[in-house]
Amino acid sequence: MSPLLVTRCAPSPTGYLHLGHAYAAGIAYARARQAGGRFLLRVEDIDLTRCRPEFTSAIFEDLAWLGLRWEQPVRRQSEHFSEYRSALDGLRDRGLLYPCFCTRKQIAAEISAAGQAPHGFEGAVYPGTCRYLSQTERQDRTAAGEAYALRLDVAAACAQVSGWPLRWQDEAAGEQAVMPELLRNGFGDVVLARKDTPASYHLCVTHDDALQGITLVTRGDDLFPATHLHRLLQALFGWPTPAYAHHRLLTDDSGERLAKRKNAPSLRELRADGMSAAQVWRMAGLDAGLFAA
Ligand code: GLU
Repeated sequence: MSPLLVTRCAPSPTGYLHLGHAYAAGIAYARARQAGGRFLLRVEDIDLTRCRPEFTSAIFEDLAWLGLRWEQPVRRQSEHFSEYRSALDGLRDRGLLYPCFCTRKQIAAEISAAGQAPHGFEGAVYPGTCRYLSQTERQDRTAAGEAYALRLDVAAACAQVSGWPLRWQDEAAGEQAVMPELLRNGFGDVVLARKDTPASYHLCVTHDDALQGITLVTRGDDLFPATHLHRLLQALFGWPTPAYAHHRLLTDDSGERLAKRKNAPSLRELRADGMSAAQVWRMAGLDAGLFAA
């Protein structure tokens, strides 16, 4: 018997859901349902400056209106900061984290002073400035109340992990190999705890997928590169590696990816305009029959 398939939909309540979210949720839901598996909903609300409770309520309302059903209780990441903290403490004790006091402006200045910056998957790669601070300087600046983020020392992390190249499987793209150079040049020392939020997306998403026993991660292909980094985190923590199915992102008439900030119509606007859930599924290119009760 093949193992039970467990998928999840993990929206962030930073705005109302639009058609792109319906598509992503629909894929995760349909895959679980077709396989007789489990579908989980998780609220990724660690960014306390951008997430709002009314958007969380709207996620529940909109997805239920679309006909989705999910297990209770729903995990809300903002209720689990202490778990992310313990994971970070583990990395710190292994010498893999360092405080970074740099502001965005300082990082940009440093990069431009160094000539052309290697461009990574998530923009410019951090030049590693704070990696070289002495222990005393770190202590003094922390004691003086200077804000800091926690960065993963990626080279040191790679050195602690064995079994290179690490591998993961994408359903469409096939087997992927992660190399230390790819992580160093593509991501650099990523932030695992932000100055304003004591955790980061990369840490929480990987932690929770492992904790919740997700066996198939379905998500947009904008996150394809991030999976290389998530694979490193899995190796560091000894977490299992799920299968991945990165899917296309829905676009508008001009070919631009649907986005909250670009005013893609929200699901509630479509509903208020009289559209039915079945029409929304058709618009998203999914078979409405998959979501009927
Ligand atoms: N909260 C993330 C998002 O909304 C989830 C990404 C993922 O599925 O890993 O983009």
